[in-house]
Amino acid sequence: MDLDFSAAENAFRAEARAWLTAHVSTSRLPSLETAEGFAAHREWERALFADRWSVVSWPEEYGGRGVSLLQWLIFEEEYYAADAPGRVSQNGINLLAPTLFEHGTPEQRARVLPPMASGEVIWAQAWSEPEAGSDLARLRSTAQRTEGGWRLTGQKTWSSRAAFADRAFGLFRSDPAADKPHPGLTYLMFPLDAPGLTVRPLGRLDGKPAFAELFLDDVFVPDEDVIGAPGEGWRVAMSTAGSERGLTLRSPGRFTAAADRLARLWRDEADPADTALRDRVADAVIGARAYELFAYASVSRIAAGESIGAESSLNKVFWSELDIALHETALDLLGPYGELADDAADAPAHGGWAEGYTFSLAGPIYAGTNEIQRDIIAERLLGLPKGRR
Ligand SMILES: Cc1cc2nc3c(=O)[nH]c(=O)nc-3n(C[C@H](O)[C@H](O)[C@H](O)COP(=O)(O)OP(=O)(O)OC[C@H]3O[C@@H](n4cnc5c(N)ncnc54)[C@H](O)[C@@H]3O)c2cc1C
Repeated sequence: MDLDFSAAENAFRAEARAWLTAHVSTSRLPSLETAEGFAAHREWERALFADRWSVVSWPEEYGGRGVSLLQWLIFEEEYYAADAPGRVSQNGINLLAPTLFEHGTPEQRARVLPPMASGEVIWAQAWSEPEAGSDLARLRSTAQRTEGGWRLTGQKTWSSRAAFADRAFGLFRSDPAADKPHPGLTYLMFPLDAPGLTVRPLGRLDGKPAFAELFLDDVFVPDEDVIGAPGEGWRVAMSTAGSERGLTLRSPGRFTAAADRLARLWRDEADPADTALRDRVADAVIGARAYELFAYASVSRIAAGESIGAESSLNKVFWSELDIALHETALDLLGPYGELADDAADAPAHGGWAEGYTFSLAGPIYAGTNEIQRDIIAERLLGLPKGRR
């Protein structure tokens, strides 16, 4: 096994690093979970797109550079190491785009992907409903056939950044007579400002207003916005879920950069006699490196034509627990200063650790809860009998 990067990969890394050094501002953008921050991040997406750094692994015709998944991982490492702004377009780029590459039509790809890559159209995910989270197949929102398209009715909830986004993708029950919950679902894209659609912001733990629930009352969607065949929505959705739990939503660069910052924090701030805390720092750093190596192994397997399927649940449990450990350890190391709000003058690293910790607590919930991922690992990877539901 060769763990070295090729000359072309090293050159790509150097080019990405040089661009990021020249373009990432030292002053942070406001949180992308606020109206002001959302607009500022949209501008950042435009700047990335203008120099073709927005979607490096996509084909050039959609604004990418057509580079390999490994080069995408390299770009992500550099991106997080440069402390570049969070990607406000991540739902579109990481979840909808892989779905369109697998199940979309050429027309849908040509129409949807370029404005997604440039930040002109920002997407929200509309899957969860009040009674259908873990048991997503129980969703009740409906898509009813009409001339030239579908009429959507129902309620979606916990839609990240839907308060400010432009469009959403979601699952709807198109055949209420189907004898089982999985068949009869259809995967559709729709505008968030459509007649009949109400977006109501939902409060988050940190008070940021971007989360929302959606109320749909007879919202028209044309046939061209159905992804895959009507009634095949579950199969299409499962490919999105694999992207969400697996690599694309949480590339290792995010965690290796946080681990490097944590190690620096230990060297600068910690009491060297506190060996218990030192061991936790070491564990978190090793965890980030292990995730990185596992990601490289997965990418090598994908490049060899394999798919990672249910193994994405392993990724999900690992990165979500690692994220909490990294942030919890940093806060314990910082003591009371770590608790300061991000706009407080003395807040270490602009309050990034405290803010990151609050967000990390959601990791075991979104993208499918860890209890459900453990069931998938037990049943599909370890071959254990089905648990009682
Ligand atoms: C920060 C954040 C962002 C999110 N963003 C989005 C988004 O953009 N779009 C979207 O559609 N959704 C989003 N969600 C919703 C998320 O996907 C759901 O919260 C999640 O799927 C769990 O569903 P639920 O909240 O209905 O909990 P429930 O399904 O009611 O689960 C409650 C608890 O019971 C456990 N449980 C349920 N069934 C079982 C079982 N069979 N075995 C063992 N344990 C079980 C769960 O693991 C959990 O601990 C987001 C959530 C969060 C926290």
